[in-house]
Amino acid sequence: MVPARPLCGGSRWGRLRSPSDGSLTHELTNDGRTERTLLEAFDSIRCFTGKHGRAPHKPLLLLLVLARLQRGDAGPIEFSEVEQKLLHLLEDFGPPGAKHPEYPFWRLRSDRVWLVESAKGTDLAAFENSSHDVPVSRLRDERAVGRLLPEIETVLTARPSLVNEIAARLLERSFPPTLHDDILDAVGMPYRAETDRRRPRDADFRELILRIYERRCAMCGFDGRLGRADFGVEAAHVQWHAFDGPDIEENGLCLCSLHHKALDAGALGVGEDGRVLVSEHLCGGSRVHEWLIGLCGRPLSVPTQGHMLPQPAFTKWHREQVFRDPPRAT
Ligand SMILES: [Zn+2]
Repeated sequence: MVPARPLCGGSRWGRLRSPSDGSLTHELTNDGRTERTLLEAFDSIRCFTGKHGRAPHKPLLLLLVLARLQRGDAGPIEFSEVEQKLLHLLEDFGPPGAKHPEYPFWRLRSDRVWLVESAKGTDLAAFENSSHDVPVSRLRDERAVGRLLPEIETVLTARPSLVNEIAARLLERSFPPTLHDDILDAVGMPYRAETDRRRPRDADFRELILRIYERRCAMCGFDGRLGRADFGVEAAHVQWHAFDGPDIEENGLCLCSLHHKALDAGALGVGEDGRVLVSEHLCGGSRVHEWLIGLCGRPLSVPTQGHMLPQPAFTKWHREQVFRDPPRAT
């Protein structure tokens, strides 16, 4: 039996408790089902705004909060404490133009895991606009504070491995494996589990893509081998796996590790004409010019006869959802 007690009762935030009739609260006090109930609650958080569109706002807020919990800092957090950090995460790992840290802070309330109220005691719901958002200025002025349900914090504090499991699921659902460690670093997650749990078909996809590109990076020609094994040569999904990008050659590219990561991070892209795009946001010294910026406008290597380069539907998804506009002029 997991005790259902608030972690910070008696503090000035003591009012921020679970609703007494919350079904999740009841389920979390039922032994045996607690872990499954909690995972299902996080899995069912609604994140997506459109077909295949990326909206990683809630996952990034939750990862920030879970990292904080893992550092031993549970309980309510003021919006002003996370606003800038979340904005930077959205800019670095969200789709182009992603902003508005206030959206997840308020909207996560409807997903059964998160509570928000004003430290001034005002009714924040009274400030909801027609989109059911509370303006960022109100969250600041009314000193909005949010927190995971106290019962959830209690369970996660008692079972630290669950924090890793939830973090892994949030990452797998919203980002490609090449970015997982970067995001965990950015949110300050001190302990982490393996997150790259590939789908069974991935091995077939990898072998197909490496074979048709003759095990060479389609951007730079790198073709490392260590003994009999490929070294630093990978199969990339152009439209991310996490967003229904299929395991087919029309959505694949053989890339070296550096260019795979640069594609997933939006530093590189593929233009309508099949040439490499380089983001104007990418900068650095002579090596960056040599290894990345110098690719600007270069045509992708074509796969062996009878096979296809990435198709426009997938490169377009990548340009709209991942690539950091604008591209450099060629
Ligand atoms: Zn390469």
